[in-house]
Amino acid sequence: MTTAFYPGSFDPITNGHLDILAQSLNVAQSLIVAIGVHPGKTPLFSFDERATLIRHAIGAAIPERSADVSVVSFDDLVVNAARRHGASILIRGLRDGTDLDYEMQMAGMNREMAPDIQTLFIPAATLSRPITATLVRQIAGMGGDVGPFVPQVVVQALAIRRAQR
Ligand code: ADP
Repeated sequence: MTTAFYPGSFDPITNGHLDILAQSLNVAQSLIVAIGVHPGKTPLFSFDERATLIRHAIGAAIPERSADVSVVSFDDLVVNAARRHGASILIRGLRDGTDLDYEMQMAGMNREMAPDIQTLFIPAATLSRPITATLVRQIAGMGGDVGPFVPQVVVQALAIRRAQR
């Protein structure tokens, strides 16, 4: 059984993440969505909130594969975290040439550190290419409509977060 590891911030999960996640399940039997937690960084959503949003988004978009996806946190090297969870494939999404340049460097260094873990680049869907979680947070924070960019459950969570501020 092939297990893939998809690391990121997911603060919050976007339609772009969801598309990569669904595509990666075409090549792996199970997928671990790994939320990176950094002591120095304050995210908009806590780990628990991000994990809940991911679970709900998957339940709504690809319910038939829900059982094949787990959500974990990690705060160490991606390759070490992937190994710890028994994954042999490292998933990265590519939006454009900027992503490619950066991701090539990371893939090269990860390969050197962990030749047993295969990086797999997955191209972004046409409609999700411009989506970044950072812009989603900014647009939502200023009251913009993020409906085209994120799952419905995230639209609601962002509206609640804005009302709390
Ligand atoms: P990072 O902190 O590495 O940017 P993110 O949570 O933003 O983490 O993204 C995690 C992974 O998802 C990365 O491989 C990134 O390229 C990919 N990704 C993010 N947004 C999109 C998108 N709109 N379309 C395709 N892939 C994406």
